[in-house]
Amino acid sequence: MTNPEPLITVDQPALTVDEACSLIQSQMNPVSCINKIEIRSALGRFLAEDIHSKINVPSHTNSAMDGYAINGNDIPLKANAKLNVVCTVLAGQPFTGKINSGECARIMTGGMMPAGTDTVIMQEDVERTNDIITIQACHIKGQNVRQAGEDLAIGQVALHKGQKIMPAELGILASLGLSEVKVQRRLRVAFFSTGDELRSIGETLADGEIYDSNRYSLYGMLSRLGVEIIDMGVIADRKQDIESAFAAAAENADVVITSGGVSVGEADFVKETLDNMGEVKFWKIAMKPGRPLAFGKIKNALFFGLPGNPVAVMVTFYQFVQNALLIMAGARIKPRLQLQLPSSNAFKKAPGRTTFIRGIIENDQNGKMSVRSTGQQGSGILNSMSQANCFIILAHDDGPVNKGDIVNVEPFEGFI
Ligand code: AMP
Ligand code: MG
Repeated sequence: MTNPEPLITVDQPALTVDEACSLIQSQMNPVSCINKIEIRSALGRFLAEDIHSKINVPSHTNSAMDGYAINGNDIPLKANAKLNVVCTVLAGQPFTGKINSGECARIMTGGMMPAGTDTVIMQEDVERTNDIITIQACHIKGQNVRQAGEDLAIGQVALHKGQKIMPAELGILASLGLSEVKVQRRLRVAFFSTGDELRSIGETLADGEIYDSNRYSLYGMLSRLGVEIIDMGVIADRKQDIESAFAAAAENADVVITSGGVSVGEADFVKETLDNMGEVKFWKIAMKPGRPLAFGKIKNALFFGLPGNPVAVMVTFYQFVQNALLIMAGARIKPRLQLQLPSSNAFKKAPGRTTFIRGIIENDQNGKMSVRSTGQQGSGILNSMSQANCFIILAHDDGPVNKGDIVNVEPFEGFI
């Protein structure tokens, strides 16, 4: 038997973050199965169809205020005018007659505008004596009226395939009168931690052992994406255990994610274990933190082997895994919000890799925004992720940063 080729060598060319993202995303296909479900159960799911509006929302032109519906031509050019109140219109109780010039209708918010009217005068702007109102010259024809279809017009695409159903989308589906909606089936993601030094919560730590935290931060990040989660625990660095964990994971899930075991030395061992189960590439990525990454296929499941260090797990998940999973889940990917902010710190940096610094966006006394580092940036300092509300991203070709220089910042937006 020949020795396996070394997988990560010092001079193996590193992939840039962008190259790795493109390579990964080019392999992603959305899951094909679609479920039709009751709209409330669809919260957090991705739409499997465009939703065309079959009705106008609102269905009728109506008043945006409590007041008086009039014909805009009755607004006086100067001084004031008097109009006769001939009826009262409540929301859901339309007036079937017509309002003539010189007349008006008492109307409540949401009430359907009667024939002959196009303008509403707020009740606060009116003087009323018995059934006569006096209005001033300061009003504009068409004011305070909501037009039929101004929210959603018949035939319009109200929601797009791949859109995530959030509270506003639930409301939109309901306003269209839809009780059910087609969504993509949830992605199934299995994950486990590898490492002889790892103990689970509830166990006692012996010398040299640590608690497995990656499985919990991964659980958090995956839960936020709305995928189905299969937590497979901690697997020891033993060939047979790793092999059977991968076999079970690939059997039950669309995607398998592990942490640990992809750095120099350990990667050989994992690779050897995986060789007859699929095709996995071990990459060195020009980034900090999170240099090693494994990506490929095990049986029919896609595989991401993330580094072991707790911050590297979160950074690599955020950069490479999150959008890949969203594409597979059938989501429309939105570009991430980026801010350009002055840095309160100087940073040493040589061109040739992308650096992710845990940062804090803050306002000074005048409300001016800037960003600073959380401090220690070691890839084992998970505390820095907890303090941070953004990544400061120093691009591949960037050199050092001076205090006050403008830097690129990606706010966490609740995803981390
Ligand atoms: P590895 O990539 O397996 O060499 O791990 C790199 C570093 O991350 C080591 O210090 C590990 O102890 C640590 N590490 C690996 N997996 C975990 C985990 N699940 N939870 C916390 N730390 C971990
Ligand atoms: Mg390890």
